[in-house]
Amino acid sequence: MNTMALDIVTPNGSVFSEEDCEIIILQTKQGELGVMAGHVPTVSALKIGSLRAKIDGRYEYFAVTEGFVEIRPERVSVLIQAGEFAEDIDTARARQAKERAEQLLEQAKDEKVDRYRAELALNRAINRINVSEHA
Ligand code: ATP
Repeated sequence: MNTMALDIVTPNGSVFSEEDCEIIILQTKQGELGVMAGHVPTVSALKIGSLRAKIDGRYEYFAVTEGFVEIRPERVSVLIQAGEFAEDIDTARARQAKERAEQLLEQAKDEKVDRYRAELALNRAINRINVSEHA
């Protein structure tokens, strides 16, 4: 089977790099996208969600925040604010972040900007909790 490389990069540097992925499943702002070697070149915006990569017949799961993906026939490059392996997610921290965001949303009922930030924080926390179930 033809495989493709995957690089996941954040402002803190590379969080994952693998040369032989069989399939990569991403959540773009337009919906879920499955990528295999030979995919047509594309750039797409990612939403807060999961990224799954099949390597040696087994899926690795990552929690990813908003960012971009560049797809080339033999390489997928993911540029995001933050990303964690399912195994590395601190679920207690994510639950605390979820509670904080929920409280902020309660307090910031009339403040559009604060609400938006709190909603993003809540989405990140819920996403981490969901992805950690695949650890
Ligand atoms: P928190 O309020 O807990 O910091 P956050 O959503 O504001 O959550 P981010 O700004 O997305 O956090 O990420 C900051 C850094 O902390 C990143 O390096 C990210 O990978 C890491 N991180 C955030 N939450 C977790 C978590 N629950 N488990 C492991 N790493 C995390």
